[in-house]
Formats: sequence, structure tokens, C-alpha cells
Amino acid sequence: MENKKGTVQCINDEILEKLSLKNRYKFLNNNLTSILKPKYFNFLRESQRFYLKFEKKHNINHTEDLYEWIPEIGKQGLITRVNNFEELGLSYEPYGITAEFMRIIATDFFDPQLVMGMGTSVLAANPLILHHENIEERLQALKDLVTGEKIGCLCITEPERGSDAVHMLTTCKENEDGSYIVNGQKIYQTNGSKADLAILYAVSEQNNGNTMAQFLVDASWEGWNVERINIPWTPRVHVGKETFTNLRIPPEYVLGKPGLGREYLFEGLNLERLGVVLVNVAEAWNAISHATIFANMRKQFDKEILKYQGVGFPLAEMWAKTMTLTLATLHICQIIDEKMEQTGILPKSFNLAMFALASQLKSQSAKLSERVCYGCANLMAGAGLCDNTLMSDLLGISRIHQVGAGTSQMQDYIMSLGLRQLFKML
Ligand SMILES: Cc1cc2nc3c(=O)[nH]c(=O)nc-3n(C[C@H](O)[C@H](O)[C@H](O)COP(=O)(O)OP(=O)(O)OC[C@H]3O[C@@H](n4cnc5c(N)ncnc54)[C@H](O)[C@@H]3O)c2cc1C
Repeated sequence: MENKKGTVQCINDEILEKLSLKNRYKFLNNNLTSILKPKYFNFLRESQRFYLKFEKKHNINHTEDLYEWIPEIGKQGLITRVNNFEELGLSYEPYGITAEFMRIIATDFFDPQLVMGMGTSVLAANPLILHHENIEERLQALKDLVTGEKIGCLCITEPERGSDAVHMLTTCKENEDGSYIVNGQKIYQTNGSKADLAILYAVSEQNNGNTMAQFLVDASWEGWNVERINIPWTPRVHVGKETFTNLRIPPEYVLGKPGLGREYLFEGLNLERLGVVLVNVAEAWNAISHATIFANMRKQFDKEILKYQGVGFPLAEMWAKTMTLTLATLHICQIIDEKMEQTGILPKSFNLAMFALASQLKSQSAKLSERVCYGCANLMAGAGLCDNTLMSDLLGISRIHQVGAGTSQMQDYIMSLGLRQLFKML
């Protein structure tokens, strides 16, 4: 039964039973079966089977410490599928951005906050895929993140530098032995107060993005201090504020010296924003699956509420918008996977075009997820707002996606710059 949180039951037994993870997966699969290639549909089903067993085995009620689940999920190869990780001896199949989409949808239906925590470990792993240079410490860190043995975070935002991330105040100073000393502060790092490993950006000259460096940091080192921030909409996800006091970074952990950091930061941004798109689409489907099951069962005035136009029509519209965005997302995923298959790397020109595409999809999907999660909860009324189902988690988490990975205003700004560039090409 779905009444997860051990609080007062508001929804009747019959409907709670029908809202099971198994039934919500079935609803999703019936929507996607005709549009997915068998390889991806089979992987989606395989991931779902894992979470169905996991839910049963641990008798999950979604109040648990989600970080404790991550090693077991890692053993199953379900932390990330952006790569096959052959260099780590893993050989994941299928892999790529479409496979990652499937992994995220299956995970989100199980627990939306888990997706946020696990997803940020992936953001810490991604720079290591590109910049490990076969150095043992980096490969070990990558393996630990990908297999869930360790938790990662990404340190870009600072207390005084949010949207203006390039003009950092956190400094790094090189020692004679090639190590660096970092001083400064970061804020709002997802996983920050749980992280074992971090990707950290700092500049050798304050406010000068051209002097930015990229580091891998072990959070157990002296000089790393972290406080937990409370984000009430995602109460089970740790978010941190970190202070660095003469934090020494050994040479093996310097992924990009001053001068390379800015390029490395931007090369990861498209993938990060696309990752947020996948999460947004997953959340919208999760909310629609709840609302559809509920509206088909809940009766008022002796009729299922879906049959009233006031309920059925807005639900149908949210369904149509979610499917439309799913098709667009699958299309871009397919293009990326094909390019990666052909050349092993995204061509620079395509990566540039991706800047506008990632911003367009990120801003639209964040708005859609927020509207659909709220819209579905609203149609479910009391049942959507109480904590008997994951709708309360979806309501909270869908409200933060316009801020993380660059605010909607910044996406609009990037897109307006794109329109200017296109005009100049005439
Ligand atoms: C839950 C959560 C998780 C996060 N996770 C991470 C993480 O893992 N790692 C990390 O480094 N950061 C993370 N962040 C930080 C996030 O990326 C920043 O919050 C975001 O970039 C905005 O910065 P800010 O909050 O300082 O707002 P500010 O930059 O101060 O912006 C305030 C307002 O001004 C607007 N604004 C600013 N500049 C412009 C402009 N030029 N044009 C128009 N409008 C503008 C913004 O859109 C916003 O509305 C997270 C944030 C949250 C809330």
C-alpha cells in the first residue's frame, strides 16, 4: 500500500493499493511502449524490476536516509548510464543519454528525492570521465562515485556569486610542489554535507574567470568544513555550505590548472542542464500517473471525478504537454547518442548549438514539471496535498528546478544571446 510515511491515512485502502509503484510503472510503460526502441524499453523495465524488489525487500516508507540506499543501487549499475565505464572494468549496457533518461524515470517513480541526491554524485563523476588522464587517484574516485561507494558534490555557487558564477571569490594558490591551497566559501551544494568527494572550482585571481581551476577534493581533508543548509521542499536531501581554510590539494587532484577551469565548467553545463530536463520530465510523468489512477477511482456525486470536464480536461492537457516534451527530449537524446557513437565525443559546433537547446529544454521542462506536479496535486485535492503518497515529495521538489543549474532568468538571458547571434549570421 502506498501510505508511506506512517502518518494519518487519508486515502482509502482501495485507491492506495492501486497507486502502487507497480501500477504507476504500468501506466508509464503503456504510454512509452510504442515510442521507445526495444533496447531502451527493456532497460526501463529492468530498472523498474530492481526498484520493485528493492521497495519490497526494505519495506520502504520514504522517510529513510536515502544516502544509505546508494551503494546497493550502485551494485546494480543504476547510479549513472551516461557512459559504459569500460576504463573502470564495468561495461554497462545500454549506456548513453537515452539510457540515462530511462534510469532516471524508473528511479523517480520510486523516490524523487533519491534522484536529486544520486544525480549530483553523477555531476561530480562527469568531469572525472573527461579529465582522469589515467591517474590512479582520479580513476578510483570515479569508480567510487559511479558504483555508489562514495557520495559526490559539485562546488560552483558562492554566497556572493550565484548566477554570476564566473567571477568567483574562492582563491587557489600554487605551491612549489604543484599542489594548491584553496581559501573561500561555497553555498547550496547538493549533497554538500554528505559528500565524500567534491569537484571544486576556484580562481587564482578573484573575479577573473580566465584564471579558474578545477579540482577534485576529498572531503575528509583538513581545511574542508561544511554546515548543512535546510531546503524545506527537499527535506531528505543534504545541501551544504562549505568553508575552505588553507585546504591543500595534491597535484594528482588538480584536474585543470588555472586557465582551464572555466572551459571545463562550461563543457559540463550542457550535460548538467540536460540531466535536469530528464528529471523534470520524469517528475511530470510520476505526477500524472498518480492523478490518472486517483481520478479514475475517486467518486463524487456518484461519478468518477475524471468524468467531470473540470478534472478530465486539464489532466488530459497536462498529459499532452508531458508527452510532447518527452518526444522532444527523446529526440535530442537520440541525436547526442548517435554523435557519441560515431565520434566518441560531441563535436564543438554541436556543443555550441546545445547551449541554446539545453537552455530551452531546461527552462521549459522546469516550468512544466512545476505546473504539472501542482496541477495534479490540485486535481487530487486533499489526497494530493496530504503525505500519503509521493505527490507531496513531487510538489516540493518540482519547485526548485527553476533555480538549480542556472535560474530560468539566466536561461532566458542565454537564449536571448542566441537570438542575437543568429541575427548576426544573416
Ligand atoms: C536546492 C538547490 C540545490 C543547488 N545545488 C547546487 C550544487 O549542487 N552546486 C552548486 O554549485 N550550486 C547549487 N545550487 C545553486 C544554484 O545554482 C544557485 O542558487 C543559482 O545559480 C542562483 O544563484 P543565487 O541563488 O545566488 O541567486 P542570484 O544569482 O543572487 O539571483 C537572484 C535573482 O536574480 C536573478 N538574476 C541574477 N542575475 C541576473 C541576470 N543577469 N539577468 C536576469 N536575472 C538575473 C536570478 O534569476 C534570481 O531570480 C543549488 C541551489 C538550490 C536552491
